[in-house]
Amino acid sequence: MTEGKRGILFVLSGPSGAGKGTVCQALMARQPDLSLSVSATTRLPREGEQHGVNYFFKSPEEFHAMIAYNQLLEWAEVYGNFYGTPRNFVEEKLERGVDVLLEIDIQGAMQVRHTYPEGVFIFLIPPSATELKSRILGRGSETDESFQRRFGAARHELQRMKEYNYVVVNDVVDSACVRIEAIIRAEHCSVHRNLELLSEW
Ligand code: ADP
Ligand code: 5GP
Repeated sequence: MTEGKRGILFVLSGPSGAGKGTVCQALMARQPDLSLSVSATTRLPREGEQHGVNYFFKSPEEFHAMIAYNQLLEWAEVYGNFYGTPRNFVEEKLERGVDVLLEIDIQGAMQVRHTYPEGVFIFLIPPSATELKSRILGRGSETDESFQRRFGAARHELQRMKEYNYVVVNDVVDSACVRIEAIIRAEHCSVHRNLELLSEW
């Protein structure tokens, strides 16, 4: 991070059960300079999830008020619930030169790409369909119907990988983190983000 420079917005998407939440938490523990945006959702908390840590849990009325007051950078309906990224947090961090990570679905990522074309879009995939199935089931929080919905959507969602800048296979959590860290470092070295280096010459 260079003084006076804006932070970089990193967006991580991928099929449900690919390990986005797990990888993001691991990444945050390894990268104290990276800021993870906490989304708002109308979904009910899973066991162990905390308001303000995993999500801001909202009623549908509260969520729609956030949309009406333009408080969301993007929002989408995913598997029957609403999810959205609070705008202020992201804009303030980027302005202060802090990198921000969003863990959001593909529809939301495409909205962000429109608003922040300079963002970096990373697609996280599981090593295989069999592994994806066991990860969704292993989480133990899905009903039969919600499992079918999430697993059934995965094949279609994987095709959207082509709309991203990078793909990371989440075979082992630490290896996936190392790959994402390499992307972060490379993006900080990209020519178009460093043109000011030429100015003193
Ligand atoms: P997502 O956020 O993409 O829906 P989660 O982070 O909830 O996925 O992970 C789904 C399940 O897979 C969780 O039980 C998690 O512990 C497990 N998991 C995530 N990454 C890995 C990995 N690399 N190897 C084995 N299990 C994993
Ligand atoms: P889950 O219910 O498993 O936590 O999340 C379901 C899906 O919603 C995941 O694909 C996750 O990436 C996505 N999601 C989480 N937060 C947001 C958000 O703020 N915006 C959008 N568009 N999707 C989100």
